[in-house]
Amino acid sequence: MGGEMRLSRYAFAGVCGIALVTLVLAAPSSRAAQATPSAQGQAVPPSPAPQTQKPNPDLGFTDTPMLPNLPWHVHDPARPHPKVVTPGATPGAPPSDAIVLFDGKDLSKWGHGGQGPDAGKVVNDAKWAVRDGYFEVVPKTGSLVTRDSFGDIQLHIEWAAPAEVRGNSQGRGNSGVLIMGLYEVQVLDVYQNVTYADGGAGALYGQWPPLVNAARKPGDWQTYDIVFEAPRFEGSTLARPAYLTVIWNGVVVHNRKEAMGPMVYRQVAKYAPHAAELPIMLQDHGNPVRFRNVWVRKLGPYDAK
Ligand code: MG
Repeated sequence: MGGEMRLSRYAFAGVCGIALVTLVLAAPSSRAAQATPSAQGQAVPPSPAPQTQKPNPDLGFTDTPMLPNLPWHVHDPARPHPKVVTPGATPGAPPSDAIVLFDGKDLSKWGHGGQGPDAGKVVNDAKWAVRDGYFEVVPKTGSLVTRDSFGDIQLHIEWAAPAEVRGNSQGRGNSGVLIMGLYEVQVLDVYQNVTYADGGAGALYGQWPPLVNAARKPGDWQTYDIVFEAPRFEGSTLARPAYLTVIWNGVVVHNRKEAMGPMVYRQVAKYAPHAAELPIMLQDHGNPVRFRNVWVRKLGPYDAK
């Protein structure tokens, strides 16, 4: 490393020397160009000489080994470059390719789902309350579902349990984020509120408690960042289960954890084939839980063109 540094320094000194000689030899014409004043009396810089760029070997190699089971060499210049996404201006803000599901103003991306023959369809506009940049569960109006359907996603959602503490265990600040309307990441006020471990906030409800309890106080805004991999079915067979990664208030509480199946109460979850994309649901569990800043990104495969 030190030798390379020294070499670089000598190389730099050499370049400087050549530049100096060039400057001296080119001095008369250079001076003439610099002497040209602009209309405002300022010197106009000479236009730069056209440069021929040497091929940059850092842009890739084709004389390298092939990556295992991939059509690409190591550092392959032909491998598709990732699409450019502009991150949100502030932490938690939606990046440029996000689908914003709630921007603080209206619930037009949400509605209430139907029953029976209308199951899976949005039959009513959202009846939850919108105020001051957030929306709030209006108990007994029913759960909300997105009008659009999603499969593999990154979801950002912020929630707050009621500041006025009422009830205990599952009765305190209960709601839920049900991805595909099936796989629930529990929302509950678990700040100094004991409930069964697989039913607390951050739990994959009825299956896996969060790795830790990262709760904030009731009334405080909390964040979930969820990476969800939808299950895959081949006919009536489960080919691959669903996986969830959940970051709660910046703390990892599930690390690509396998879901046992859709959320069920007092039973063991089991998979049944369903569509590749389904609406996201927010649960009406009778408590006035608040939500804000909700956005989702569809996740595509690696090496997408
Ligand atoms: Mg719930």
